[in-house]
Amino acid sequence: MKVLVLNCGSSSLKYQLINMENEEVQAIGIVERIGIGDSFVKHEAVGKAKVIIEEEMANHKKAIKLVLEALVHPEHGAIASMNEISAVGHRVVHGGEKFTESVIITKEVKDALEACSELAPLHNPPNLMGINACEEILPNVPMVAVFDTAFHQTMPASSYIYALPYEYYEKHGIRRYGFHGTSHKYVSDRAASILGKPLSELKLVSCHLGNGASVTAINGGKSVDTTMGFTPLEGLVMGTRCGDIDPAIVTFIMEKEKMNIDQLNNLVNKQSGVLGISGVSSDFRDIEGAADEGNERAQLALDVYYQKVKKYIGAFAAEMGGIDAVLFTAGLGENSAAARKEICSGLEFLGIKIDDEKNNVRGKETVVTTDDSTVKVLLIPTNEELTIARETVALI
Ligand code: AMP
Repeated sequence: MKVLVLNCGSSSLKYQLINMENEEVQAIGIVERIGIGDSFVKHEAVGKAKVIIEEEMANHKKAIKLVLEALVHPEHGAIASMNEISAVGHRVVHGGEKFTESVIITKEVKDALEACSELAPLHNPPNLMGINACEEILPNVPMVAVFDTAFHQTMPASSYIYALPYEYYEKHGIRRYGFHGTSHKYVSDRAASILGKPLSELKLVSCHLGNGASVTAINGGKSVDTTMGFTPLEGLVMGTRCGDIDPAIVTFIMEKEKMNIDQLNNLVNKQSGVLGISGVSSDFRDIEGAADEGNERAQLALDVYYQKVKKYIGAFAAEMGGIDAVLFTAGLGENSAAARKEICSGLEFLGIKIDDEKNNVRGKETVVTTDDSTVKVLLIPTNEELTIARETVALI
């Protein structure tokens, strides 16, 4: 059985075709600049040359058509016919409170997703566009929606209620939702397998440190707290997002700098984070490089970033009454030995002892602590696409 996994953004679309008999990726690609001119597909089928297909794509329907054509292409394709695609799994960012798990997409589900769009105006509308386009092009293929928020719906109210008048939760759904759920779920499942213990008996802190970043407390396989909130802006310092700040700063800056809501949104989402502190870049490779060359603000950006992750590991260990393991995943978590080492330094009191030799590794499942470290630290490359494909197969 072959599953097409789609992750539709406003002007981009990432895809993977996965053979679920052996869980191997058969083709992978990305479409960029949909609807904004100069659009192209970057496509690669396993064992074949990478191709770039330049063609105007005014909308997601045209983009998905081109992706399907690439998949069945005699030279650079991966399958003989579209009939080989048994199902499509869609990544959907926001499922609100309605979706606590993945669902088969029906008319009712689409209506409910439309209703959630207000909560994720940047993410859910393109997700829906992808779903509608697929439905038109592959009308008889079942589709499944897998939500970034669903994994966190197990959080207790004490973790998700903000200290605002309660009526705003009731009226507008203002609460912590949490994101990166597919990734946190995947790495926690893997951790149980690597540690050789049932997930139900483990207390884990999962650190997804990519361009967007979040830490989640996972007790017995269930998310019990997470750093991202009503939107993916809260919590850790990120590439360009500010994470936690005093909310009073928002109105103060708006007044001082004569900014409107759009400008302020842009400031906290696109110009802040490690980019804002360092003035160098949002990419940790550039910041680590600049810090090595003595750039003090780059070093400060790293220090602020590391401290925030450390702070949440400690907070979540306290919330769960101890931890068995800390998991690192996504771009920085998987690739930066320095980040893992710095974040874990000072956590010896929790029982964490990093083994520098084992930690000197990239992108490979590894226990990076010493054998006598009572709390383990694990590097686990995330695989959101495989999780989406698995959920899709389970439902159809
Ligand atoms: P992701 O969002 O998971 O794709 O992560 C992307 C981010 O990971 C990049 O912006 C970098 O900041 C970071 N990253 C990727 N590779 C490395 C590396 N080798 N060293 C340090 N940071 C990295």
